[in-house]
Amino acid sequence: MNVVTAIGEARDRIRAARAEGKRIGFVPTMGYLHRGHLELVEISKRHSEYQVMSIFVNRIQFNDPKDFSSYPKDLQRDLDLARAAGVDLVFTPDEGEMYRNNLTTVDVSLLTDHLCGASRPGHFKGVFTVVSKLFNIIQPDVSIFGQKDIQQAVSIEKMVFDLNFPVKMIIAPTVREQDGLAMSSRNKHLDAEKRRNSVCIYRSLKRAEELLVSGETDSGRIRSAMEKTVLEGSPDRIDYISIVDYASLQPVERVSGKSVIAVAVFFGSTRLIDNMIIEFEGGGIKCVY
Ligand code: AMP
Repeated sequence: MNVVTAIGEARDRIRAARAEGKRIGFVPTMGYLHRGHLELVEISKRHSEYQVMSIFVNRIQFNDPKDFSSYPKDLQRDLDLARAAGVDLVFTPDEGEMYRNNLTTVDVSLLTDHLCGASRPGHFKGVFTVVSKLFNIIQPDVSIFGQKDIQQAVSIEKMVFDLNFPVKMIIAPTVREQDGLAMSSRNKHLDAEKRRNSVCIYRSLKRAEELLVSGETDSGRIRSAMEKTVLEGSPDRIDYISIVDYASLQPVERVSGKSVIAVAVFFGSTRLIDNMIIEFEGGGIKCVY
């Protein structure tokens, strides 16, 4: 496995792999890797022969400077995990390499009005800008994103379409802890009690599934039941519980087509998110967590 910090060197190595006829798979991350990230690499391997992972904590996507400065980091451990997962190239630039005199940003309007976009001003512009830059540096054939960050994944899919990036996008299901909590680098910030209680987020999605399967489609009623379940975990604050159309990410009053139920909850200052995708299939309902 090669570890490079310079854009030019990353390009040289990738060019050499491509010259050998290999397709390039790319998993962008902010490091502090967990099984969720590694699962994205596994999926990438099914679609490509040369695996690139970026590890870069992208300051411009943090609307809260404290969240940025406390973001967990352990590069050595990350490199060991990436190597064991079969990553060929880790690109881990510093801020100067990525943003020297950068004046250009990328935004995807409408899709970021609600959900995390509403409570984290500027966050998605930072995400789209860094992902555009990484796509131009790496020029992957395929790139894998996690469903856990569904607003990010859906908006990047739209950005790829709108800006004609020649990249195949794959959205991978959320990898969870045994009790159902979605894996996240930020889970490290939870103390034992908050960690135990945080399972209420997953339970609220399960509760929504029960209601949907029993025929409930009214968003308001589903959201109230979910709120009750979340409150059982005594969170510090519910940021949102929202039901939106999958493609537009705009709230729906009734669940009828492909939709997303998304939740964001604070435990202390740690903001946890989760979601499920609802699809209607052959007269039934399918919920993908
Ligand atoms: P991050 O390092 O948190 O920016 O995440 C990098 C990528 O990993 C993003 O595409 C995330 O959606 C994805 N990811 C994070 N957590 C999970 C998880 N629990 N399951 C699957 N993918 C995840």
